[in-house]
Amino acid sequence: MVSRAVVIGPARYAVDSGIDSHPPIGESARMYGEVFAGDEMWGTDCCRVLTEDEVQTADAVMRALQEAADETGPDDIFLVVYVGHGQYWSDVPGAQVHFSVGSSYRDKPWTWLSSWYVYRVMRKARARLKVLIADCCYSNLLPQLGEEPVLPGVLGALDEGTCVFTAVKNANFASADGCSALPGNFSKCTPFSGHLLRILQDGTKDHNHQLTIGLLREAVKKEMENCTGAQHQVPRMSLNDARDGTPLFTNQMELKKRDPVPQLPVEPADWVKTLMMDRDSRLDELLKDERKTGDVVALLSSRPDEASRHLARHIDVRANQAFNSPHAFARYWNQVEKALRV
Ligand SMILES: [Zn+2]
Repeated sequence: MVSRAVVIGPARYAVDSGIDSHPPIGESARMYGEVFAGDEMWGTDCCRVLTEDEVQTADAVMRALQEAADETGPDDIFLVVYVGHGQYWSDVPGAQVHFSVGSSYRDKPWTWLSSWYVYRVMRKARARLKVLIADCCYSNLLPQLGEEPVLPGVLGALDEGTCVFTAVKNANFASADGCSALPGNFSKCTPFSGHLLRILQDGTKDHNHQLTIGLLREAVKKEMENCTGAQHQVPRMSLNDARDGTPLFTNQMELKKRDPVPQLPVEPADWVKTLMMDRDSRLDELLKDERKTGDVVALLSSRPDEASRHLARHIDVRANQAFNSPHAFARYWNQVEKALRV
C-alpha cells in the first residue's frame, strides 16, 4: 500500500503582499505531519509536509502533488490537506477558489494556485479514495466549480472515490488565533485543524477501530458545536461518495473508553442517521429486510440535500443486486414507490 498524504500550509507572505502571515497555519501543517506519522495507517513514509520553500510557489506545490499522485495505486488513498488563505474572484474565467502560496499577493489572482489544478491532479490519480481537507477562507465555495450540477463533477465522477471535507467559512480566519479550549500545541493551530487533529490523535468514543471520513466529520462537528472555547463555524463535508466507508485513520481511543457497539437501528430515521455516518458498515444488515430498505430509500429520496440523495442511490444500487428474486424486489420497490407517490 502506498497511500499518500500531502500537507500544504503556507504561513508566511511578503510584507507588501497584503496577506497576513499567520503562524497557526504553519503549526497546523507541522502537526498534521506529526499526527499522521503517529498513525499506523500512515506512518512517516506516507505523509509529506511541504517545506516553506515548497509552499512558496504554485509550481512547487503542484510538482509535489503530482509526484505523490503518481505513486498511488488502485488500492490506495490520496489525501491532500490544505491550510492557508483562500480567495474567490467572480471576475476571472471560470470563477473558483484560489489557494494562496507563499509568493501570493492579495489582489493578483495569477499569483495564487487555482483549485482546479489541485482537483485535476486528484481526479487523475489512480488512488481509489481521494480526500481533500481544506481549511481556508472561502472553503465553503470549493464545490462551486464549473457548471451545474456542480457537486459530482468537481473531483470527477462520483464513483471515482472523491470527497472534500472543509471548514465552513467565508471570512478570513486571521482574526481568530487558535482555540483556547484545545490542549497543548493544538491550541496553536487554526480552530478547525486543531479540533480535527486532536480527534485524530486521541480518537473518538465510537466503537469502530478505524475512522472513515464520515465518522471523522461527525466527531469534528460534534466537538466544535460543543466547544467551550469559542463559537465555531461547524465544518461540513461538501462532497461524499461511494467509498466513504474506506477507513482513513486509526481510532486511537482505548477500547474500554469507547462506546459499546450500538444496537441495530429500528426506525427508518435511525437507519438514515447510521448510514449517513458510515454508509457501508451496517448496510448488509439493512438489506436483510426488503421493506425496511425500501422505507429508508424513500425517506432519503424525500430529503432535499445532495448527500441524502447520493446515499439513496447507493442503497438502491445495492438493493438491485441483493433482491434478485422478483418477489423480494417487489417488496422493496413497493415501499419506495408508495412513499414517492405521497
Ligand atoms: Zn474550539
